[in-house]
Amino acid sequence: MTRSLADIRNIGIIAHIDAGKTTVTERMLFYANAIHRPGNVDDGTTTTDFDPEEQQRGITIYAACVTFPWKGKTINLIDTPGHVDFTAEVERSLRVLDGAVVVFSAREGVEAQSETVWRQADKYKVPRLAFINKLDREGADFTGTLEEIRNRLGSNAVPIQIPIGQGPPHFKDAFRGIIDLIEMKQMTFVQQALGKEIVVSDIPEEMQLEAEDYRRQMLEELFSFNDELASLVLEESPVPPDLVRKVLREATLSARLNPVLCGSALDYQGIQPLLDAVTLYLPSPADVPPVEGHDPAKPDKKLVRNPDPEEPFCGLVFKVLADDHGELHFVRVYSGRLKAQSRVYNPRVDKKENCTQLRHIQADRREPWPVSDVEAGDIVGIIGLKASVTGDTLCDPKDVIALESITFPETVISMAIEPESTADRKKLADKLEMLKRQDPTFRATTNEETGQTLISGMGELHLEIIKNRLLRDFKLNVKVREPRVSYRETVEKAATATGECHRVQAGTTLSADVTIRLEPYPEGEKPVTVESELPIETLPIISAAVNEVLAEQGQGRAFPLIRVKITALSATCGETEPNEIAFRAAAADAFRKALDAAGPVLLEPIMKLEVVVPDEYVGDIVGDLQQRRAIITGTNTRGKNSVLEAEVPLANLFGYVGAVRSLSQGRASPSMEPRSYAAAPADVRDQFLNW
Ligand code: GDP
Ligand code: MG
Repeated sequence: MTRSLADIRNIGIIAHIDAGKTTVTERMLFYANAIHRPGNVDDGTTTTDFDPEEQQRGITIYAACVTFPWKGKTINLIDTPGHVDFTAEVERSLRVLDGAVVVFSAREGVEAQSETVWRQADKYKVPRLAFINKLDREGADFTGTLEEIRNRLGSNAVPIQIPIGQGPPHFKDAFRGIIDLIEMKQMTFVQQALGKEIVVSDIPEEMQLEAEDYRRQMLEELFSFNDELASLVLEESPVPPDLVRKVLREATLSARLNPVLCGSALDYQGIQPLLDAVTLYLPSPADVPPVEGHDPAKPDKKLVRNPDPEEPFCGLVFKVLADDHGELHFVRVYSGRLKAQSRVYNPRVDKKENCTQLRHIQADRREPWPVSDVEAGDIVGIIGLKASVTGDTLCDPKDVIALESITFPETVISMAIEPESTADRKKLADKLEMLKRQDPTFRATTNEETGQTLISGMGELHLEIIKNRLLRDFKLNVKVREPRVSYRETVEKAATATGECHRVQAGTTLSADVTIRLEPYPEGEKPVTVESELPIETLPIISAAVNEVLAEQGQGRAFPLIRVKITALSATCGETEPNEIAFRAAAADAFRKALDAAGPVLLEPIMKLEVVVPDEYVGDIVGDLQQRRAIITGTNTRGKNSVLEAEVPLANLFGYVGAVRSLSQGRASPSMEPRSYAAAPADVRDQFLNW
């Protein structure tokens, strides 16, 4: 059975770690009757954190998708990760969802990761609701958090609810319900019924003025979006709730306004109104612009697909999950229809693939639920795909399109793994292949000579998780070395060199001279690129020569070369016939000479670090950072805490999370992500023999 477009909501919940994303999700599933008993993060009993690694750490690493009904609509909830080591995962989820709920903790306010994710969501113009959670906590500050959302995120944040009281139950003015500013009613959530029963009543007298004030502000914000509403407000006539909701929907869809809701997920308060808001104000797949792509054969030829079941099928693989029975590919369907037992085309590998079975991941069923077909706008799990990985397009073989692929950053840290036996080596290779398909920010390569496998990723935590999967989940017999920084190289200056090839081979005279220029790109993680000012046919030959040299071991380059631009300036063959082998040998010679002349530069990864720290520990944390070659780029205050921003070489951040914990008695929290590669100083270079 297919679902009608307008009734689907593909949404994500995004938040800084610990803001309450998992708890909010858990409560949503509970009220949607998808689970019988609400799970708790603290007991490791939640539904979405199903990976054993996640349950142990209490954080959500792998984005999964879960489906449940709410008041006649179908909500596909795409779980987004909350840790900064996994920014790429967040970015990937944003590509496939239509709207988002951003959860903030009323106590911590806007934290680093919510800011990063908010900006990513701005980039993809994802309509958003804000949910201010944890109003039951001591130190909860609704207006402070609201101000931060406005000032730090530049959001036009407009409350459509306000809290009644804030703080824990033993407080005099404890958080005990919310006021709905559209209906102008009070809502309280019966605790004995775990919030399932809601009591709607008149606004308490002492809150009346405040509520009216917030309502007036809300209506003023909606002014510019709708004339009818504007004139009603001007005439001081009553504004019907349905009109307010209609205008709020338009304003939210245009991403020019963010409705703000509030509650306490842990205490079962405010979740049903949040679900209502998701269906009322966030877009259906029919409300978002058509998806863009290009003809795989002609990259310049742009193509668009409307969210229409009658158009040819296309979709994007955004997640691959694996278990003992095989792999499940999660696909966002953008256009057309997909049937079980059909064939689709993957333009990246130029192959047709079998969609043997289609599954919906329903929260109320233990197993993925088989479906016969799905339509534009929906999300589906496919069984049977072999060659497809995250980021791939799938399309109708008769009407092909390549959607913009998802790009992933360079890895910055690596770890050597050695299998104990040949049998282990085979098993390891299989598992790594599977992990690579699931997580495109993770890489693994094997050195054929030493038999050593190197895995690399986005940070210490990322590799630790992979290590635990290999050792604990897959029970592999492998030795794991300490993680190491992934260095890169570039060149110091531009250089031009001419390479030659003059020899007789099997009776043929090979003769060629090739001149190339080599220069560094100033910054950015650009790979080695090759251009040619010569007739276009020489370009593939010169590229092949460059790749050949880059693959050679012991050429004075201990690390992969990046940020180098190569331009072929001339290629001549004297009196002889032009010969590909001669050109290639001459180009390789020219590249080696130019590399020598251009001089090497060792590049090390720099992390962007943020530490939220209570004032009394700032001195210790700063002192420690200075020992770590950190450049402090900013200090701000956030509530009772300071926020230190710094750029620090990854090499000096090993074990940092633990160090911060002991320096601050566990009260400071750091987060980090790769920022860029930068030239390493002499003392770092001196650690390497080749330098
Ligand atoms: P996530 O990291 O964003 O998924 O956050 P979790 O849902 O795992 O919550 C982090 C911690 O905050 C857990 O200990 C939760 O029990 C707690 N928590 C979540 N929501 C609330 C809330 O509304 N009030 C209080 N007091 N604690 C909460
Ligand atoms: Mg979580």
